[in-house]
Amino acid sequence: MKVLKNARLIDGTGKSPVKDANIVLTGNKISAITTANESDFPADAEIVNCAGMTALPGLIDCHDHMANHRYDLAHRWGIDEPESTRHLRTAAVLRQTLEAGYTMIRDAGGLDAGFKRAIEEGLTAGPRLVLAISIVSPIGGIGDRMAPSGDCCCVPGDPLLPDGVAETLADVRPVVRRMVRAGADVIKCATTGGASSRPGHGPRDGAFNLDEMQALVEESHALERRVMCHALGGRGLDIAIEAGVDSIEHGCYLDEDPRHLERMAERGIVFVPTLLVYEYHRRSPQQHVRERAQDLYEHHIVAIKKALAAGVKVVAGTDAGGHGHPANAGELRALVEAGMTPMQAIQAGTSWAAECCGRETELGTVETGKLADLVVVRGDPLTDISILSDAKNIALVVKGGAVAADRMAAR
Ligand SMILES: [Zn+2]
Repeated sequence: MKVLKNARLIDGTGKSPVKDANIVLTGNKISAITTANESDFPADAEIVNCAGMTALPGLIDCHDHMANHRYDLAHRWGIDEPESTRHLRTAAVLRQTLEAGYTMIRDAGGLDAGFKRAIEEGLTAGPRLVLAISIVSPIGGIGDRMAPSGDCCCVPGDPLLPDGVAETLADVRPVVRRMVRAGADVIKCATTGGASSRPGHGPRDGAFNLDEMQALVEESHALERRVMCHALGGRGLDIAIEAGVDSIEHGCYLDEDPRHLERMAERGIVFVPTLLVYEYHRRSPQQHVRERAQDLYEHHIVAIKKALAAGVKVVAGTDAGGHGHPANAGELRALVEAGMTPMQAIQAGTSWAAECCGRETELGTVETGKLADLVVVRGDPLTDISILSDAKNIALVVKGGAVAADRMAAR
C-alpha cells in the first residue's frame, strides 16, 4: 500500500480541488481517498508526503506521433538514419513522455504495435498506448506518400505499418481490417489536406467521398474501433461529421458552418483541436504551410469557443512529431490561451481525453476503484497551467500504482 498524503487533489472531474487529500493506492488501483483528519494507515504503508503539492490524474494526449521526430522528407521516409537508431530514439521519447506526467498517449499514426508490447512486457518505459498504426486516406490524401518531385516513396514499407491508401470504395474495408490486424486500437483517417500537406491539398481540399467514409466508419465500428478523423474544413469536414466519425482532429474551420458543431454535439463527436502544432506551422520555413496556418488561426480559436458553447467536448492533443517531444502539456497552456479555464484544460487532458479513448471507466480521474495513474506537481496548475510544461515541477509520476518518475527529493 502506498499513500500520497496531504496533497491538494484535482480529481479530473471538474470538481473544486480537495485540500489535504490522502490518496491510497493498493496494487495497481486507487483503493481509497480520505482527508487528513480521518486517516489511520497500516504501519507498513509507504507514506509519500505531498504537502504543498497538487495531485492530478495521469495526463493524456489524444493526438501524438511518437515515432516521428522531424518534418523533413528523408525522416518521414525513414532514410535519414538506421531503423534501429530511430526505434531507440522513439523509445527514449516514450520514456521522457511518461516521466513528464503523460500516462496515456493516443498515437495518430506511425508507431507500430511492437512498442506497446515492449512497454507492456517491461522492456522499456512508456505511457499506455492507444494506436492508430497508419493513416487511412484515398489516393492523394495525407497518408499517400509522394515527394514534391512526383516520386512515390522509394523505401519498402514497414510490414508493421501497412499502407493506408484506399484506392477505391471497395478497398476501404480491407484497409481498415489490415490496420486492425497490425494492432490498431483506433482507426485514423483523413478527409481533408492539412497545413503541412503538399501544395494543392490544403485544409479545405477534400479526400474521400461520403460512401467511402460511411464504409470506413461502419467497418471500424463493426470491429469495435473508434474513428479519429483529420478534417480541417470544407466538404471533407462535412463528410466526416455526416459519416459519424468519433472525433474530429484539428477541426480548424468548424466555425464556418453552425451545423457542424450542432451535429457534433448531437452525436457526441469530440473535438481535438491540436493547437500546438499550428503554433509551430505559423513559423514554418515553407511559405504555403505558414500561410495556411496563419489563415486558420482566428477560425480555430472561434471554433473552440463555439464548441464549448454548443456542448462539444474539446480534448487535448498536440500532433507532436515534427515539433518536439515531449511538449504535450504545452497544449493545455494553448487551450487556456484559447479561452478555456485551467480546470477545463485539465479535464481536456484527463477525464475528457479518457472518454475520447473509450477508457473512462478505468482512467482519467482520481476516484476509488480506478487505475492508479497519477501525477504530483509542485505548484498550482489552476493558477498557472504552464507549470505542467516544466519537468522540474513534475515531482512524481505513477502509472498503474508503480512509480514511473520520482523527483520528490529534488527541490
Ligand atoms: Zn496528426
